[in-house]
Amino acid sequence: SIATETLGFQTEVKQLLQLMIHSLYSNKEIFLRELISNASDAADKLRFEAIAKPELYENDGELKIRVTLDKDARTVTIADNGIGMSRAEAIEHLGTIAKSGTRAFFDSLTGDAKQDTNLIGQFGVGFYSAFIVADKVVVESRRAGLPASEGVRWESEGQGEFSVSAIDKPGRGTEIVLHLKAGEDDFLDEWRVKSIVRKYSDHISIPIEMKKGNSYGENGEVIVSDEFEAVNQASALWTRSKNEIDDEQYKEFYKHVAHDFTEPLAWSHARVEGRQEYTELLYIPSRAPFDLYDRERKQGIKLYVRRVFIMEDAEKLMPHYLRFVRGVIDSNDLPLNVSREILQESRDIDTIRAGCVKKVLGVLEDLSANQTEKYATFWKEFGQVLKEGVGEDFANKERIAKLLRFATTSSDEQTVSLADYVARMKEGQDKIYYITADTPAAARHSPHLEVFRKKGVEVLLLTDRVDEWMVAHLTEFDGKALVSVAKGALDLGGLEDEADKAAQQQAEEAARPVIAKLKEALGDKVAEVRATARLTDSPACLVNPEHGMSAHLERLLKSAGQ
Ligand code: ADP
Ligand code: MG
Repeated sequence: SIATETLGFQTEVKQLLQLMIHSLYSNKEIFLRELISNASDAADKLRFEAIAKPELYENDGELKIRVTLDKDARTVTIADNGIGMSRAEAIEHLGTIAKSGTRAFFDSLTGDAKQDTNLIGQFGVGFYSAFIVADKVVVESRRAGLPASEGVRWESEGQGEFSVSAIDKPGRGTEIVLHLKAGEDDFLDEWRVKSIVRKYSDHISIPIEMKKGNSYGENGEVIVSDEFEAVNQASALWTRSKNEIDDEQYKEFYKHVAHDFTEPLAWSHARVEGRQEYTELLYIPSRAPFDLYDRERKQGIKLYVRRVFIMEDAEKLMPHYLRFVRGVIDSNDLPLNVSREILQESRDIDTIRAGCVKKVLGVLEDLSANQTEKYATFWKEFGQVLKEGVGEDFANKERIAKLLRFATTSSDEQTVSLADYVARMKEGQDKIYYITADTPAAARHSPHLEVFRKKGVEVLLLTDRVDEWMVAHLTEFDGKALVSVAKGALDLGGLEDEADKAAQQQAEEAARPVIAKLKEALGDKVAEVRATARLTDSPACLVNPEHGMSAHLERLLKSAGQ
């Protein structure tokens, strides 16, 4: 058997450690939040596995977390009786970063301490945050179900390597001992640590216990207590009623479930009754994660059944265009042994999912109407993803369309809603005009806009990658057709007056000989050459046939190698 082996951290871990220690210095206490969050996840995992194998509880079904301080040894210990880790798991989970988006994260680092701190926060620091305050971390763990002799001790000074060895560990779960760096004695102060734990972890659903404070006897003598007491409320946050939860608690819970560091933008919390009974607590993050476009990403919404964590899933519980939403759904009706396969087919899940989508759209509508600054943040981070919903979610297409924001010929920023556009339409205008292009500058300088500029008609500037796809699915809004200014013989409808018609006729007459020559010269390269009175500054422009691909889409396909 292998007694002790010394292994090197994955390169990314070394980088992360370096960065963290240097940039999170002013926010050291978050290590407690991260380690308690992991202990709570470990309890969730045990409860889940124990549904099928109750023997995993080993006659110890009272899941809890204990934080102890040792002033003499200068250590902080966080212990749990959750799922624990095997040797192989310890090596994998505490020696590498398996997260999706890891590459993107390292690529986006700038070297600027302040910016990188933000990025790390967004990426999530997790277990490695222990090294912000400790110069040595010892983890002893045993996975539930393994014999006591298959415990593991993981040890590291947070430099380049760690060692693992076999130990006897009668109690299941994980114990993490932090040997504090010089100068970190603050974290040996019972009162201070209690207040940090309370602040960060009150929402954790199992008790977090600490030693009872000393009391004083009749003669003023100190009575040292050996008893522990819970310092948190120890009930799942989403089960409490709204008026018992303050914003800070909602925010901390978000950081725990989303493994995010930054505050959420908004949330929805409701108990839903009806065909399905469930509680949802769903959050809109304030920043896009690194893996927003990673199809492999599995994290998203945590599904609980009657307070028991079942699984975390990105697809069954939220449609793809709302994949940025984080939080929990706790069902009263689903069976505890619900599997991924059952979920796939379940009409009950469809009902829950549809209800949750409505809640999320409701939150976004509320932000867009009442908190425009927050909505602008949302739009900047997730607007492009929300646009996918126009094609993906037929039932909610109208609601999604109202949430879209665009740059236009009269707004540089993406702030104009379709309703705003319609409200400003010119007399006689009955269509919503748009132009697609690779960049806002290209859109703005297009000769197709000349006639619109002349008539003072606003045009939507669509320059995001997803826009072509979006307009293919969004053909009208409020009874008005969306029309590309670059397609076919542009019909200006009621915007055209007698003078325009006369000008068009005149242009056609005058251009007849030139057109004949151009047709001859261009031959098969064009479908048609037409005269127009719409250009005011440019001599000519290319247009696409009414139902043809747009030039922009053609370029996109070409660049994708199609
Ligand atoms: P995350 O929590 O986002 O997965 P962390 O860095 O916090 O990332 O933890 C890495 C992994 O280490 C966890 O996913 C888990 O598998 C394992 N782990 C950490 N702490 C514990 C613990 N107390 N009990 C069991 N496993 C743990
Ligand atoms: Mg974690």
